[in-house]
This record gives sequence, C-alpha cells and structure tokens, in this order.
Amino acid sequence: MRKYYANLSFFVQSPIYEADKIAPGEKPRKKCPSTAGGCGAYVPIGTIKCNHCGFFFTINHAPKTSPNGAMERVIRHEQEQIAFYHRWLREAYRKNKPPEWADNIFQRRFKTYPLDSWKLNAVFPNATEEERAKYFKYLNDHSWQSKNPEYWRSRQLELNLGINEFS
Ligand SMILES: [Zn+2]
Repeated sequence: MRKYYANLSFFVQSPIYEADKIAPGEKPRKKCPSTAGGCGAYVPIGTIKCNHCGFFFTINHAPKTSPNGAMERVIRHEQEQIAFYHRWLREAYRKNKPPEWADNIFQRRFKTYPLDSWKLNAVFPNATEEERAKYFKYLNDHSWQSKNPEYWRSRQLELNLGINEFS
C-alpha cells in the first residue's frame, strides 16, 4: 500500500479538522458553517444539531476530504482498474488473444500498466480441472511469443490461476 501515500497530498487539503485550531486541553470543536446556513458558532465536534441556531450537520456539511476518504477513493479507483483489467483478460481469452492484448488496452485507458498480481482469478476463479487444462492450452498457444516460452507459461499460469505447474 505504500505507493498510494504519495498520491494522498492531492486529495488532502488542510486544515481538515477544526481540532487543529484549538489549544491543548480544549475539546475539539467545529464551526457551524455560515456558508451553508449555520450561525458560525464553534460547537463540540460530535454535534449533530447546533444548539445556537438549530443547524443540522449532515454528511454534506462534513469536510469534503479526509485521509480516510482519500484512501477509500484510491482503493475504489484500484478496484475499478482491476475490474476493467479482468474484463479485458476474459475478453483476450475469449478471442484467443494473448494476455498482453489486455495489458495494452489497460495502458491506453489508464496510461499505466496493470500489476501482475491483478491477474489472479480474472478468467477462471476457482478453476475446475477442465478449466485449468483449457487455460493451460490457451497460454501454451501464445507462449511462442516469449523468449522463454516455458517460463512465461508457468508464470502466467501461476499469476492467473494461482497454481504452480511444477509443484
Ligand atoms: Zn449554529
């Protein structure tokens, strides 16, 4: 997950928490947002209804960004990328094109290449013996394009189905 942290500064705008503004020992407070119809008073951070003006704090008035929100967005983006990649790996198999065909479609869409680890269970989740044999044949048919066909085939088999053909 480390690589995601580099991206977080893009999402995180400071100051996020009103807690940043208070003296040590004071309880964290938030501002009743005058820009959204509130009165501008500072109220305890857990307040749902302002006791000065009756303003209701809802999810829409919460800070638009938070470290957790940014992380969730990064994770959601990755899930979308994996789903996209899986779809095209299945399409590659269906059209009998090599897995790299899906890699290139992914690259055109996201301007980066997918991770090898994302291949797992793309085409045959919980593959049966028959499906394993089919996928082995599919890989074998395309392995000639590699400088080291046997290595390529066994690596792809492991990445996609999680099985090691030599074990
Ligand atoms: Zn208020």
